[in-house]
Amino acid sequence: MKTQNAKKISVSGKGRLDVPDIPIIPFIEGDGIGIDIWPATQLVLDKAVQSAFDGQRGILWHELLAGEKGYQQTGQWLPDETLESLREHVVAIKGPMTTPVGTGIRSLNVAIRQKLDLYACVRPVRYIDPVPSPMKNPGKINMVVFRENTEDLYAGIEWQAGSQEAGQVIGFLNDKLGTQLCENTGIGIKPISEVNTKRLVARAIQYAIEQNLPSVTLMHKGNIMKYTEGAFARWGYEVAKERFADKTITEQDLYDTHAGGRPAGKIVIKDRIADMLFQQVLLRPGEFSVIATPNLNGDYISDALAAQVGGLGMAPGANIGDQCAVFEATHGTAPKYAGLDKVNPSSLILSGAMMLDHLGWHKAAAAVRTALQKTIRDGIVTYDLARQLEGAKEVKCSEFASAIAGRL
Ligand code: NAD
Repeated sequence: MKTQNAKKISVSGKGRLDVPDIPIIPFIEGDGIGIDIWPATQLVLDKAVQSAFDGQRGILWHELLAGEKGYQQTGQWLPDETLESLREHVVAIKGPMTTPVGTGIRSLNVAIRQKLDLYACVRPVRYIDPVPSPMKNPGKINMVVFRENTEDLYAGIEWQAGSQEAGQVIGFLNDKLGTQLCENTGIGIKPISEVNTKRLVARAIQYAIEQNLPSVTLMHKGNIMKYTEGAFARWGYEVAKERFADKTITEQDLYDTHAGGRPAGKIVIKDRIADMLFQQVLLRPGEFSVIATPNLNGDYISDALAAQVGGLGMAPGANIGDQCAVFEATHGTAPKYAGLDKVNPSSLILSGAMMLDHLGWHKAAAAVRTALQKTIRDGIVTYDLARQLEGAKEVKCSEFASAIAGRL
C-alpha cells in the first residue's frame, strides 16, 4: 500500500462520501479490552480490504486519543483535537471507553454523539449460525435498530432532588401549571422534537429503501407519553408521507386497500407500543425488519435483541450523522479481562464490516462476515462462546482474529 497516496474522505454537497483508494481513517483504541480487540480488528479489516481489492485499496489508520489513554497523555478524557479530527476525517472507528466517575462527564460516548451530532445509533441484529442463542429459531432475527441519539431522557436535562434548580422547576410547575409534585423530587426532562424525529425516521426509511427491506416499525410508548413518544410516531408517519410517498404504505392502508398483501416495491410503515414490541420480537421476530425509535427505548431494545442472537460480544453498531460516522464496539471495557488476550473481538470486527459497507466497499465487508462465520462454524472461538458450543476449541482473541484473516 502506497501510504503517500493516502487522503481524507470528504462529503459532497448531497451528503455522498468521496472515498479515495487509500483513505485515512482515525481509530480510538479504547480502554480495558480495547488493547486486545482493536489490534484483532485491524488485522482482519486490513486483510479483507487487501484481498477484496487485490492490494489496490487499503486503509491508513490514524490513532486518536480519548478515554483513559487520552487522560493519561493529555489530561483530557475527550481532547478537543480528537473531536476535531473525527469531524475532519468523516469516518472513524472506536473501541469501548470507560465512563469517568466524578468528572462531570456523563459519558464519553454520549459526548461524542452529541458534539458531532451523530443523531442515528444504528445497530444491526443478525444471527450468525451456530452462535449459541436462547431463541428456538434465531435465524428468523434480522433487524436493524435506528435509535435517536441526541434527545429524549438522554439529553441530560435533569436536576437532583433537593437542588435549587429542582426546587425552582417544581415551584414553577406547581404554581403555574397546577401539578402537585412533592418537594424532594428529582426532575428529568424528556424533549422529543419534530425536526430530530423526522431526520432519524427519514434515515431509517432511506436505509430500508436502499437495502430493499419490507418494513419500518416506529417503536414508542405514545399511549402514555402522548406529546413526546406519541408525537414521535405521528411525525414518523408524516415524514414517510412527505418524503417517501411513492415508496411507502402504512400498515393501515395495507389492510384497508390491499387485503394485507404488500405491493411490490413498497415499504410498510407501522408502529408498535414499546412493551408490545418486546413481546413480538420474541414471539414473531420474522415480522420486523427496521425499527426506528427514541433514545431510551432504543437503548433497551438493541441490547435485548443482541441477547437474542448471542449477546453484546457479537453485536456491531455505529453512530451516524449527516457529516460523519463513528463505528464502535457495543459492549463496554470489561476491565477484568483487559490485556489478557481473551475476549471476543467480533463486535468491533463486525462494526468494522459495517464501516466498510459505509465506504461502499461491500465486497470486503461481505468477506469479513463470511470469514467470521466460517471460523465459528469450524469451532474456533473465544472463551465466551467456547463454554456454550460443544466440541469447540477455545482460542485467544488474537488467534481468533488470525483464524478469520486466514479464511479471507
Ligand atoms: P461490559 O460490557 O464491559 O461488561 C459486561 C459483561 O460482558 C462482562 O461480564 C464482560 O466480561 C462481558 N464482555 C464485554 N465485552 C466482551 C467481549 N468482547 N467478549 C467477551 N465478554 C465480554 O459492561 P460494564 O461492566 O457494565 O462496563 C464496564 C465499563 O465500560 C464502564 O466504565 C462502562 O461505563 C463502560 N461502557 C462503555 C461502553 C462503550 O464504550 N460503548 C458501553 C458500555 C459500558
